[in-house]
Amino acid sequence: MSTHRTDRRITAGLVIGTVAIALAVVATVVESRPAQSSHASPTASDTPRPTASKTLPSRGITSGAAPGAAAAPVDDLAGVTFDSDGVLRIDGHVVVNKSFALPATFGPGDLDPALVAAFQAMQAEAAAAGFSLWILSGYRSHAHQTDNYTQRVAEVGQETADRGMARPGHSEHQTGLAIDVNSLSTSFGSTPTGQWVAQNAYRFGFVVRYPDGKEAVTGFKYEPWHLRYLGVELATELTASGLTLEEYYRLPSAY
Ligand SMILES: [Zn+2]
Repeated sequence: MSTHRTDRRITAGLVIGTVAIALAVVATVVESRPAQSSHASPTASDTPRPTASKTLPSRGITSGAAPGAAAAPVDDLAGVTFDSDGVLRIDGHVVVNKSFALPATFGPGDLDPALVAAFQAMQAEAAAAGFSLWILSGYRSHAHQTDNYTQRVAEVGQETADRGMARPGHSEHQTGLAIDVNSLSTSFGSTPTGQWVAQNAYRFGFVVRYPDGKEAVTGFKYEPWHLRYLGVELATELTASGLTLEEYYRLPSAY
């Protein structure tokens, strides 16, 4: 009988040992998961994680085609909708980048009134601080962007054009929620005015949408002049965390 007991203890020990090894393997796998995984442990990454993070399929989805994005599990798309107008909105925010396009038919025709009011407030406060702000470029229709892009490609070739100018359907200017201010020069970012904008725009609901050093994430090179209106809440979160819209919502941005 005692022999039998010993066997059971040995068996129990083996089981416990096996479970411990299995747990260790699981822990290792969890820790080594890439940060892009929506199922990774919140403690497994050294980047800040918003509670509303979303993961979407990496390629091939445009708002004009296959709305609903059936390629992704439903739980990954919670809170993500392609609206009936073909526009992708996450938490109510229009998302446009190299991976997510607007339909050619989409066009509010002008800047969003909320953006205009926010810009005027920012402009007034900048003026009080001694800085002049003005809008160089606001709403652009799909047709207008097509003209611009075609011309740009003819001038510099597609590869260079794609780093600094969105293809038709992929421009935030088509949303009426983006503006270019003051100067289309990278050096604007290091001017006192450009620095004031970078530091204060969030208080009015804007972010510098394509920050320096984030081209691999946003798909676009540094544009200190391109401001996206997202509302004060999200703009504040992005600015405080240093995250781009792509990082915040775990979005790809690539053609
Ligand atoms: Zn722009």
